[in-house]
Amino acid sequence: MQVLSVASEIFPLIKTGGLADVAGALPTALAAEGIQIRSLIPGYPDVIGSLQRAEPIYSDPAFFGGPARLLAAHAGGLELLVLDAPHLYARKGNPYTGPDGKDWPDNGIRFAALSRMAASIGQGLLPDWIPAVIHLHDWQAGLTAAYLNYDAKPRPGTVMTVHNLAFQGQFPPSLLREIGLPPQAMTLDGIEYYGSIGYLKAGLRFADRITTVSPTYAAEIRSPEYGMGFDGLLRGRSELVSGILNGVDDIHWNPATDLLIASRFELATIDARAPNKLAVQQRFGLDPDRRAPLFAVVSRLTWQKGMDLLLAAIPVLLECGAQLAVLGSGEPWIEAGLRSAAFTHPGRIGCTIGYDEAGAHLLQAGTDALLVPSRFEPCGLTQLCALRYGAIPVVARVGGLSDTVIDASPMALASAAATGVKFAPPSSAGLESAIRRTVTLYRDSKAWRGMQRAGMATDVSWRSPARQYAELFKDLSRTKAG
Ligand code: ADP
Repeated sequence: MQVLSVASEIFPLIKTGGLADVAGALPTALAAEGIQIRSLIPGYPDVIGSLQRAEPIYSDPAFFGGPARLLAAHAGGLELLVLDAPHLYARKGNPYTGPDGKDWPDNGIRFAALSRMAASIGQGLLPDWIPAVIHLHDWQAGLTAAYLNYDAKPRPGTVMTVHNLAFQGQFPPSLLREIGLPPQAMTLDGIEYYGSIGYLKAGLRFADRITTVSPTYAAEIRSPEYGMGFDGLLRGRSELVSGILNGVDDIHWNPATDLLIASRFELATIDARAPNKLAVQQRFGLDPDRRAPLFAVVSRLTWQKGMDLLLAAIPVLLECGAQLAVLGSGEPWIEAGLRSAAFTHPGRIGCTIGYDEAGAHLLQAGTDALLVPSRFEPCGLTQLCALRYGAIPVVARVGGLSDTVIDASPMALASAAATGVKFAPPSSAGLESAIRRTVTLYRDSKAWRGMQRAGMATDVSWRSPARQYAELFKDLSRTKAG
């Protein structure tokens, strides 16, 4: 079975967040399920620069305002179709923003072009490779479903996966003609969303199936509390909505072979984890204190991630004798708050602002606990990495955090099932009491070791999720054929 995956970022070629991890790891896991998958991705400089054996297989001299080619290529273990359109993608900066941090003004065109190309491939642009299903990731791929709906042509099945409902892709209605959609698309029952063209809405409205990245988030987004304006639409299509948890790439994230950490270990040699704590303390300027409970954060530093709650909880953390190491970047006031906390409490709080893949691995290997106090969290990947690396996740009881961590309740501790600490609601009081509870557990070395073992024994790989996606794709293609 042939599937086209469409995403705006893909690890290891280009990454701003968890979307890239998923788009990069799922194809390999699906291949093991017998799915032949190719990934369509924009030709940003980082992507073009890492291609091996790129072969032009299609060209269009006037594609959304300039010449474009489709390159068949192989990179990072992935079979790629790269949309090489320099007027849209050959720019410095990240996929969405320029060096000034502002969105590219033509993002509406850039991702309409990606979606248009996906739809055309679905309609048979490459006669020797016609996908049975197109898998759309987030708003950047959402318009694909609208193009397929409004073109009167045979079409493959579509699955829209929502990685984060907060990113919706809304653009002015004046763009309609330029992106090649008909005027009748601009209705409430089409792609119109509060007067704008809604790219995510297009995907949610017209895809044959909708998935999101955890069962709990799949339920949450059908409620007004978490639906961000889409709960009505999602309730109306409820029978098509499901949640499939993300996994982590267990080759890239493997403490037994990880060259980015100071000391490799596995379940049977968990004591070999200890030097990593010292390495974290060194790297983050913390006192080399083996007994101090060490908390870490690897995250975008944003309101969604509850990083303001973390700032408010710092006094409690210090009062408990704990240390804190933070790696991330995001909202300037949160970055400033963390920098200032590190300045005021040298040896106790360390903070690195920026993106550092090696630092993220070391933190997971060395920290005692990983804090994830998100206000909402579709799935979350860092708590999965924490489980695999023997760090105890301390998480808000929302979305995928709720589905992947087993709280250290007395019952779960007694049955050796506990893998972390959960708290609700996501508030600073909730986080503070979770920190206190975690420190108490840390002082009970038997309970702590039991949680580490249960966490490390948890299957956080892509195997089970990939099986579920493969089933969904096969079921959809059978429905379409029948
Ligand atoms: P998001 O909502 O940002 O996608 P996820 O938890 O789903 O959150 O995924 C975040 C991914 O990005 C994880 O792989 C995490 O390790 C990584 N990450 C986040 N911030 C940083 C950083 N500053 N440096 C390195 N990796 C980071």
